[in-house]
Amino acid sequence: VKFGDEALLLALLNTAPTVGSEQRDELGTRAAGLAWLAEHGAVADEATLVALREVREDLWAVVRGEESGTLLGRHLDGVQAVPSAGPRGVEWRLQSPPERRAAALALLAWSDLEATSPGRVRPCGNPECTLFLIDRSKSNSARWCSMAVCGNRMKARRHQQRLRS
Ligand SMILES: [Zn+2]
Repeated sequence: VKFGDEALLLALLNTAPTVGSEQRDELGTRAAGLAWLAEHGAVADEATLVALREVREDLWAVVRGEESGTLLGRHLDGVQAVPSAGPRGVEWRLQSPPERRAAALALLAWSDLEATSPGRVRPCGNPECTLFLIDRSKSNSARWCSMAVCGNRMKARRHQQRLRS
């Protein structure tokens, strides 16, 4: 049974893009954070925003390899899967305190990915970029958050370096 929301996970990891030389935070202010929640189908209230900011910090650390996944346990208090019998068998529903739901969906998506394809969630290979990617390539060789942005930028830089040397 998978409860995770991959789109939400990736969007959450990528809420602090670097634009020019400045890192922005899409969850930085209350107004921006609540708007982000509404845009991503989550309950737009203060408690959910706080829970998401907290799980984001820990997911960043775990995905960057700075912390072990056990760090994420504190976001699972009160989260459980509950079975119920339906017409075609047993269905599982995720139950959680309302303010933890979005955080749990992002965390569970990371966990699902680690279980089926370990290491596929990772930071962009451009050292100046603060975004993340989910590698869905067969060869597990994707390096950039976006080929159009970071891929081309890094290619151009390598080309420049070759010309110089
Ligand atoms: Zn990037």
